[in-house]
Amino acid sequence: MSNDAPTFDPAVERAIATVRADVARLHGELVRYGLIVWTGGNVSGRVPGADLFVIKPSGVSYDDLTPENMILCDLDGAVIPGTPGSERSPSSDTAAHAYVYRHMPAVGGVVHTHSTYAVAWAARGEEIPCVITAMADEFGGPIPIGPFAIIGDDSIGRGIVETLSGHRSRAVLMQNHGPFTIGSDAKDAVKAAVMVEDVARTVHLAREAGPLIPIPQSAIDSLFDRYQNVYGQSEDTRR
Ligand SMILES: [Zn+2]
Repeated sequence: MSNDAPTFDPAVERAIATVRADVARLHGELVRYGLIVWTGGNVSGRVPGADLFVIKPSGVSYDDLTPENMILCDLDGAVIPGTPGSERSPSSDTAAHAYVYRHMPAVGGVVHTHSTYAVAWAARGEEIPCVITAMADEFGGPIPIGPFAIIGDDSIGRGIVETLSGHRSRAVLMQNHGPFTIGSDAKDAVKAAVMVEDVARTVHLAREAGPLIPIPQSAIDSLFDRYQNVYGQSEDTRR
């Protein structure tokens, strides 16, 4: 580490170390569940108690991701100089993650993949209807479509925030692109990324074979309420 490394409060240093380890390890879940190819996909996690988050470096093989080469950024997406990993570029989606952390204070984790079935719905610009109880449990309704947006400015982040603010779903399918998920922490956002691909695949297969049967809104509401409360998930990211 170079001499210009910033010094953080010891509690913040411990939090950074924990989030670095979590974010590095959670990328393995994207591989395990078949959500990514090559170096695609990215997980980030907010550092509790600081205006910082940790994200994957750009273009590094999944086999080579370690806590030390994860990249520490401020909430504008700028790399903190002198910290481990800072010699590399962060994920090309860093600006979108940063925008979400700036505008959704309860969000502690963000994940992006190009998982196959979720991208297929995104390519049609079609929301995934809520036709299975597991989807009502996890997402409380349909998985919405976000606007078409090109990488390079705030438009992807803005599209995510505008679509998910006030929505029960922790997942958005950005049109012609793919899923972004949010959660109370990085692990919760990874869970949403796994679940959104699972429901995208199941509902796709169901529709291939025949018409979908809607679930009444009152039943969706009670399933969501029960799962979110009985199973003790934190309310803080539910809007
Ligand atoms: Zn992408």
